[in-house]
Amino acid sequence: MSSMFSRTLLFASGLIASMLLSNRAANAQQPPVALEKLEGKTIVLFTPHPDDDTFCCAGTLSILAKQHNNIHIVLYTNDDKGSYDPEMTSQRLAQIRGAEEEAACSIIGIPKENIHWLQFHDGMLEYANPLDLVEEVTKVIRTYRPDVVMSIDPGSQYVRWHKTDHRMAANNTVDAIRAAEWHL
Ligand SMILES: [Zn+2]
Repeated sequence: MSSMFSRTLLFASGLIASMLLSNRAANAQQPPVALEKLEGKTIVLFTPHPDDDTFCCAGTLSILAKQHNNIHIVLYTNDDKGSYDPEMTSQRLAQIRGAEEEAACSIIGIPKENIHWLQFHDGMLEYANPLDLVEEVTKVIRTYRPDVVMSIDPGSQYVRWHKTDHRMAANNTVDAIRAAEWHL
């Protein structure tokens, strides 16, 4: 089994919890590494919307960026809904959210080229083709081969009952991690 899957998954949904993936026997022999001690690792964070990563774990990301970790942010949706402005369009809102995400990541220390948009529409993940969803995220994991994956916690009560995009992103990310383990 690839050592890739002895790596760590961190769930970010207000609180951050950690869970070791498969190859647990190998992990059990290693003491847990404090988050702030991680250096020079590849970290991929999957988030349904831009505000979830910047609201929930910007401080954590800032620490990890200062520790010279290579951090990639993968956004499931383009966040093109959710404005009370009757003059707003979905296209303009997505542009605004994109610029906000880039500005926030710049402050944290994550370069623009490390921000990846899967471009699903806000609120529509549950209607997306499940195969497309899992394949896109699996491809990201296989491309960057992260040491740590951060995502929404699929077991969190808040996530289970909150916006559908959160449930979908949470479960899809876990499914994709599992799928990425196998080359067929
Ligand atoms: Zn959200």
